[in-house]
Amino acid sequence: MSDTWNPRTRAVHGGTRRSQYGEVSEAIFLTQGFVYDSAEAAAQRFESAGEDEFIYARYGNPTVAMFEDRIAMLEGAEDGFATASGMAAVSGALTSMLKAGDRVVSSRALFGSCLYVLEDILTRYGVEVEFVDGTDLDQWRAAITPGTRAVFFEALSNPTLEVVDIAAVSALAHAVGATVLVDNVFATPVFSNAIEQGADVVIYSATKHIDGQGRALGGIILGTREFIRKTVEPYMKHTGGSMSPFTAWVMLKGLETLDLRVRAQAASALAIADALQGHGALSRVIYPGHHSHAQNALVQRQMEGNGGTVLSLDLAGGQAAAFKFLNALSIPVISNNLGDAKSILTHPATTTHQRLPQDQKDHLGITPGLVRMSVGLEDAQDLIGDILQALDQAQ
Ligand SMILES: *Cc1c(COP(=O)(O)O)cnc(C)c1O
Repeated sequence: MSDTWNPRTRAVHGGTRRSQYGEVSEAIFLTQGFVYDSAEAAAQRFESAGEDEFIYARYGNPTVAMFEDRIAMLEGAEDGFATASGMAAVSGALTSMLKAGDRVVSSRALFGSCLYVLEDILTRYGVEVEFVDGTDLDQWRAAITPGTRAVFFEALSNPTLEVVDIAAVSALAHAVGATVLVDNVFATPVFSNAIEQGADVVIYSATKHIDGQGRALGGIILGTREFIRKTVEPYMKHTGGSMSPFTAWVMLKGLETLDLRVRAQAASALAIADALQGHGALSRVIYPGHHSHAQNALVQRQMEGNGGTVLSLDLAGGQAAAFKFLNALSIPVISNNLGDAKSILTHPATTTHQRLPQDQKDHLGITPGLVRMSVGLEDAQDLIGDILQALDQAQ
C-alpha cells in the first residue's frame, strides 16, 4: 500500500514502528542495547538479526530504523544508514567502498569538509582523486577513464549554486562501471530525484533542511540494500559514526514538515531573487530557480524548476560592502548553517571557504563581495524590505 503513497504521505507515515502502547508520535528508544530472552536467542540474533531485532545502538536502533526507512521511502532508495553528521555520511560512504589504488573523479565546487576528505584524507590512503569543473561535461568525460571506481559531486554546489547534470554524469560513470555518489543537501529530498536520474548513492546532511530548525547534527547514506547493508553498514558499525536515537527522533519529526517548509522557503528565495534583479549595489544575484540563472534549463529538467532554499548575492563594493550589508540586516542572522527556519547569511570567503587559497577562491567564483543567504520561513516581504534597507546602507 505504501508503494502508492505520494511523497508527503511517505514523509509523515513512512517507516513507522509502533510499540505495544500504540503511541501516535514515534517513540524514542533511548537505549544502547537490547535484552535477549535466553542465551540461545542472543546467539541466534548475532547469527542473523531479523528486521525488528536489534543488538546494539551502534549497529541499529528502532527509532533510527524508523528514520532510515522513512527517508529511504521518500527518496525512492532501497535502504539507508543514518549517521552522526552529514560528514560522517560523506566520509563513511566514500571510505567504506574505496581502497588503495582506486580512482575517484569529483567536482571541485564542494563543501569545505567534503573537499578535505577527498583531497587530504583519501589520498593519504592511496586513493587517486581528480577534480573537474562540475558544469563542464567535457572535463567529466576526459576524467572518467576506464577503471574509475567512484564519481562524487554536489548536485547543487555551495556557495555559487552551480548545477551538475546528474543524468549525463551518471551515464559517463556507468559506462566505465563507476559508482555515482551525490551529496544532495542543497537540492533537498523534496526537489531531488537523484536516484531516478542515475545516482547510485545519495547523501544528505540532515542537519540542514531535514531538521530545519537548527537543533541537531545528523546525516544519511541512501542506496541499494546491497550497498547499504554489505558495504556501508559493516564500516559504520565498526567505526562508530552512527546516529543517536534522540537525533533520529528529531529528524523523523523534521521529515513530517519538510515538504511544507522547503517549498515555502524556495518560494521566498525566488521572490527575493526576483526583487533584487538589477539592483545597483549587486553585481550578481545567483538563484538556480530564477530564469536569469545560466543553467536554468537544467534546473527545469533536473529539479522541476525548483531552485532550492539558498541564493547568493555578490555585492559590487566587495568585502567592505558585504560586511556592511550583513551588519545592517535586522531579521536574518549571521551564521553558517542552512536550510533553517531562520534566514541565515554567511560570507564564504572569510568563513566557510576561508581555508581555500586565493586562486581556488577565484576559480570557484568566491569573490570578496559574495554572501550566501539561506532563506527561512519568515514572511518574504519582511525579508525583502530588510534586505533592501541593508543594501542601501551598504552602498
Ligand atoms: C553541511 C554540509 C555537509 C556536512 O554536514 P554536517 O551535518 O555539518 O556534518 C556536507 N555537504 C554539504 C553540501 C553540506 O551543506
